[in-house]
Amino acid sequence: MRLKNKVALITGGNSGIGLATAKVFVAEGAKVIITGRNPETLAAAKKALGGDVLALKIDLTDVAAAEKVFAEAASDVGKFDIVFANAGIGGATPLGQTSLEQFERIINTNLTSVFFTVQSALPHLNDGASVILNGSVHAVLGAPGWSAYAATKGAVRSMTRNLASELAPRGIRVNQVTPGGTRTPIWSPYAQTEDAMTALEEKLGSMSALGRMSEADEIAKAALYLASDDSSNVTGIEITVDGGMTSAP
Ligand code: NDP
Repeated sequence: MRLKNKVALITGGNSGIGLATAKVFVAEGAKVIITGRNPETLAAAKKALGGDVLALKIDLTDVAAAEKVFAEAASDVGKFDIVFANAGIGGATPLGQTSLEQFERIINTNLTSVFFTVQSALPHLNDGASVILNGSVHAVLGAPGWSAYAATKGAVRSMTRNLASELAPRGIRVNQVTPGGTRTPIWSPYAQTEDAMTALEEKLGSMSALGRMSEADEIAKAALYLASDDSSNVTGIEITVDGGMTSAP
């Protein structure tokens, strides 16, 4: 019970890595608040998580709405000890085919909303809280079509280090999990059939030294370490869970 009596806010807690993390946090005794946009998957996640879970529908690109919803959640459940700013979208499009609208969508979702998630949560954070951002190996890899996505994740990586420095006077730690290719619904748009998905998973897996994709619960376990007192003197770092994707020659 490493998170007993802790309150954890997990954005994007209705799917993939966020949902896997919510499961681990609930099992470790936390009161969990999940957010998402899709009411069906939010309801299903709440049911699957059981216990004391608050599920809130919110589009995080609406910064004012996020501010209001976080304030209401804190007054319902209590101040936050953990914030996992995890929500995000993928998006591989070749440079020449990326519209301004697509570019702004990815920046607003993966960068602006992450910054304002932390800002909106800040008045409701207990001193000594743990903030975790979700990055990506794309911050350091070169891959065709991923420039816009990679730019958001490179910025999140910088934000982790700078927020760690800024929030340290309150004892608030800020760290990042950095997943490599991880088996979640984020990949669904890239494979329309089961066979295509198997081929995609094999391709992504083959890019890592260990030869397979990560599972969402493997990222969740890194988030648990950063959320818990096990990492009480750890701030401004990232934990990469990528099967050696970024260490492979
Ligand atoms: P999923 O698609 O399973 O989950 C994404 C989550 O983000 C969903 O809960 C979704 O909610 C939420 N979300 C997206 N846009 C918004 C928005 N505008 N407002 C509120 N919530 C939003 O993907 P993953 O679990 O894989 O992704 C989680 C994070 O992990 C992302 O930041 C991603 O970049 C990162 N990551 C993932 C990797 C992978 O291979 N899976 C690799 C590296 C990083 P809803 O479904 O309701 O829209």
